[in-house]
Amino acid sequence: MDKKELQTYADKLKNLELERPIRIMEVCGTHTTQFFYTGVKDLFPEKLSLIDGPGCPVCVTPNRYLDRAIEIARTHEVWLVTFGDMMRVPSSYSSLQKEKAVGVPIHIVYSPLDALTLAQENPEKQVVFLSVGFETTIPTEAVAVKKARQEKLKNFSILTGNKLTPPAVRALLDAGEVKIDGFILPGHVSVITGIKGWRFVADKYKKPCVITGFETQNLLIGTMALIHLIQNGNPEIINEYSQVVTESGNEKAQEVMAEVFESTEAKWRGIGTIPESGLCLKEPFQEFDANLRFPVNPPEEVEPRGCRCGEILRGLVTPLDCPLFGKKCLPETPVGACMVSSEGACAAYFRYQKVSP
Ligand code: SF4
Repeated sequence: MDKKELQTYADKLKNLELERPIRIMEVCGTHTTQFFYTGVKDLFPEKLSLIDGPGCPVCVTPNRYLDRAIEIARTHEVWLVTFGDMMRVPSSYSSLQKEKAVGVPIHIVYSPLDALTLAQENPEKQVVFLSVGFETTIPTEAVAVKKARQEKLKNFSILTGNKLTPPAVRALLDAGEVKIDGFILPGHVSVITGIKGWRFVADKYKKPCVITGFETQNLLIGTMALIHLIQNGNPEIINEYSQVVTESGNEKAQEVMAEVFESTEAKWRGIGTIPESGLCLKEPFQEFDANLRFPVNPPEEVEPRGCRCGEILRGLVTPLDCPLFGKKCLPETPVGACMVSSEGACAAYFRYQKVSP
């Protein structure tokens, strides 16, 4: 799309006259940030609202998960290995960053396969990978576990905190707490799930959906297409990311996930326990389950006082409704997970939203 076409789309969105208020939800944390970063959110006409969904894996991971990881490290003297985003997330009583500062061995990696390499190179150390992610990272985690089994590694395990996004959208729709007219569905996740993973949103719940990418043009085209579907009362899914998203998705990735993991219920911050939204290791791979290898009983989970992450993740409020936003809660001193992650709604609002003094 050239500059002129882009401007035409931007003008169309800005000057759109809506007969009634329309509320759309973006499910993906990267979309949350990109709507701000590209300025597309600033083009929204008054009656169009964008609601942030539960699409940031770090944000939806409950405190209990980190409490358990920290307790494992303290009790069993293992090496914890994690993606960098998790370091500053507050747990009930600490954070990985604080634990590292007092000498707990915590390593940051960019891939689960890096964690596997650490285990291979340090056979005298027990390496526990904090496996927190959605469909986009889970296949690589499955590959790491498979390799560990093939190589008969005895010092590698994962603490499973992975989640599947379609069941979370289903749970929001079933709860019916928030009025949503249509969905911008996640681009990266849909590469794995395919369009078929989301058909239920249109077929069962009669909500129009658009799968789109992350550039300005993707967001503009996706938003306009979604509004068109909503205004015409047309509950369909449109794939505006057909360069990478197909009907059936990445079947090889789905196969390796299904070989290593099986679905189970999982707790999501703010949303609660959702059936079949989490993954646990299947029987032949359970020796790599850190929960079984390193049993712990962390103290009771505590949520930070005043933090409204849970309501934000359910689309009930925006970060601007939190009294701590930009005051006690800042990116350098986050009170809740949504201010830490680069995909968190509070972090995105803090970085990009123009707030009146
Ligand atoms: S601004 Fe901070 S305290 Fe408020 S909801 Fe967001 S993360 Fe929680």
